[in-house]
Amino acid sequence: MILALANVKGGVGKTTSTVNLAAAFAGSELRVLLVDLDPQGSATFSLGVREGLSPSSHQVLMGATPAREAIRASSVDNVDLLTATMELAGADLALARKKDPQKQLASALREVRGSYDVILVDCPPGFSLLTLNALVACHAYILPVVPQDLAMESVDRFREGVEAATGWIRKPIELGVLLTMVDRRTKLTEEVVGEIRKGYGRAVFETEIPINVRLAEAPGYGMTIFQYERWSTGAQAYSRLGAEVIG
Ligand code: ADP
Ligand code: MG
Repeated sequence: MILALANVKGGVGKTTSTVNLAAAFAGSELRVLLVDLDPQGSATFSLGVREGLSPSSHQVLMGATPAREAIRASSVDNVDLLTATMELAGADLALARKKDPQKQLASALREVRGSYDVILVDCPPGFSLLTLNALVACHAYILPVVPQDLAMESVDRFREGVEAATGWIRKPIELGVLLTMVDRRTKLTEEVVGEIRKGYGRAVFETEIPINVRLAEAPGYGMTIFQYERWSTGAQAYSRLGAEVIG
């Protein structure tokens, strides 16, 4: 199964969710590959990889290096990684010159996908060719949102983007909208969560990721939440989410 985590908005918990879902799956004995497609490389750092980043997902996308040669182990057992580097910032232009620019990731992953139970793709914000490549390669996508102003607009925007791209891509399944950084102590969050659940119904994962400072601290140590503080509310939430996604 190939899953992309994407949203037009940045700062909604895409990377945090990709990394910690990868760790949750690996903890259930699944073989996981994380593909970091964000030039910022936050997922790469969060998995404890800071050096020797090349060959990265950029070379793989460009067809310059086979995926199996670029994949490396991360600091988490059972989680392999395709790193991201700043070169990805120029990937859109370079991809646009290729035949079938949106299909590069899908074809690059073909030779390795049989080696993994789950492949997770961390997308940059927006709806660039990088995100389109992830959507073409994946079976389904997860749409993380923070229940604040404009959360529903970002969901609608993303869905419109998928619709607009359908025609030149096979339409991926939306696995679910994921509520992240949920702060149930505030009345506004409570209201927005209610609106989102009412508006999108069963499209929203039952599991909510609470706001939890441990989740924000862990990447600085190059750790997942399970390595950093496995009994935190954040770790518990990502375990539950893993079970809900697999279930
Ligand atoms: P994105 O990948 O969508 O840009 P990130 O996963 O990088 O978003 O999250 C944005 C910021 O919020 C990061 O600093 C991250 O550590 C922090 N963060 C993410 N999820 C949580 C959470 N549940 N509780 C507290 N901080 C969080
Ligand atoms: Mg990110």
